[in-house]
Amino acid sequence: MIEENVKKLLSEIPEKNAFGEKVTLVAAVKLQDAKDINRAIKAGITDIGDNHVQEFKDKYDEIDGSPRRHFIGRLQTNKIKYLLGKVDLYHSADRFNLAEELSKRGASAGISSNILLQVNIGNEDTKGGFDYGDAEKACKIISQLPALKIKGLMAMLPFIDDTKELTNLAVKMRALYDKLKDEYNFEYLSIGMSGDWKLCIDAGSNMIRLGTSIFGARNYNKQ
Ligand SMILES: *Cc1c(COP(=O)(O)O)cnc(C)c1O
Repeated sequence: MIEENVKKLLSEIPEKNAFGEKVTLVAAVKLQDAKDINRAIKAGITDIGDNHVQEFKDKYDEIDGSPRRHFIGRLQTNKIKYLLGKVDLYHSADRFNLAEELSKRGASAGISSNILLQVNIGNEDTKGGFDYGDAEKACKIISQLPALKIKGLMAMLPFIDDTKELTNLAVKMRALYDKLKDEYNFEYLSIGMSGDWKLCIDAGSNMIRLGTSIFGARNYNKQ
């Protein structure tokens, strides 16, 4: 099933978005065991994204090949040490003290980290990220930190069914991305999950994070 899901997705996802940018599929692997992740990799997944540091650590040596590694979950500063140097892109730089600590620890280890600034586009209490109106200023401040490189923006759209509203929010994210991308050499706009990736790509996303549509519904009782 995983193999078929990956193949189907890879055939459905356009190679490029409307802006001519390559679209990258990141498999969201939370709660999946290494065996299933490796099946996805074998079927063509090149990028995997973890949410939980413990899971990342536990499975690290069991992952086949050398997929690009993304960290997409909320990160506590005291766990940075387990990820440093092993993550290609942190999607969830959602607050100043995380960025500062990632830079500080990276600087002392001689490791520069690539991050995306997370924006709380739906203004939701349940989600992390900078307020939309604060993101530009946050970018300016965080870009001064020595051991970080801001590669773009990330957001999670609200879990609502209103396609029009979701599209509005995704378009708003793209507008912010376009405003900042030349100044900071942005490469990635990471929006889009299993339920909304099509409209996100149409709005200008170039990186989508899919879990359910690759692995099926997550079993939260497993842990
Ligand atoms: C779980 C998760 C996803 C994938 O969600 P699905 O709806 O299963 O595709 C994407 N992004 C983040 C940050 C996640 O935590």
